[in-house]
Amino acid sequence: MAYKMLVDIDRCVGCWTCAMGCKVGNHLDDDVYRVEVETHGSGQGIDRPAGVYPDLHMWWQPVYLPSCTFCAPRVAEGLPPFCAMDCPTQALAFGDADDGQSAYAQARARVEARGARIWELDSAGAETRASVEYATAR
Ligand code: SF4
Ligand code: SF4
Repeated sequence: MAYKMLVDIDRCVGCWTCAMGCKVGNHLDDDVYRVEVETHGSGQGIDRPAGVYPDLHMWWQPVYLPSCTFCAPRVAEGLPPFCAMDCPTQALAFGDADDGQSAYAQARARVEARGARIWELDSAGAETRASVEYATAR
């Protein structure tokens, strides 16, 4: 069993529902997050695009923190993590990488078929959780 999360960057709209679903589902304190959504734009904050109007652009990246448990109690019951369940655009796919029928494996096959670039953040510095992959065909 090798659980992984695949984040399809091309489907992420930066809505933070994953973070809120995690917070509510796991009964976290108001100032505690296990996943945070970074805006890649001007660098001046959330939803601040780069460029000059009308040529504006930005993209979003849910960053899983080391405190993320991959919702182990739920997953042990066969339920998906709150974040993946609640994402309105199905940008998050979780499951056993060794099971070709898992949501993760099927989503990975789809992004590979699109020719997407797939990468992981460096979790060695303990700022992010391991076993989270990102994909984009842009
Ligand atoms: S991963 Fe889904 S829930 Fe999270 S910010 Fe992106 S679109 Fe929203
Ligand atoms: S996998 Fe579970 S603990 Fe981790 S961010 Fe998603 S909802 Fe929170």
